[in-house]
Amino acid sequence: MPRRNQTKQHSRLVVDIPCKRKKRFNSEAKALETAEQATEVTLKVYKCPYCKGWHLSSAV
Ligand SMILES: [Zn+2]
Repeated sequence: MPRRNQTKQHSRLVVDIPCKRKKRFNSEAKALETAEQATEVTLKVYKCPYCKGWHLSSAV
C-alpha cells in the first residue's frame, strides 16, 4: 500500500482560525468594557485559544 507522506513544513501557520473575522481585544478589561456598552444584547467575554486575545460572543 503506497503511502504519500505530505509533510509540508511551512514556517507560517496557515490555519483558518474561526476568530479571524471577530473583533479582538488585547485585554479582558477592554472586552468587558465593550460588552457592558452593548445594551441590546448580552455579550460574553472569553479568551481565545487561537489568537490569545479576547472576544465577545453573544450569549443565547
Ligand atoms: Zn481569536
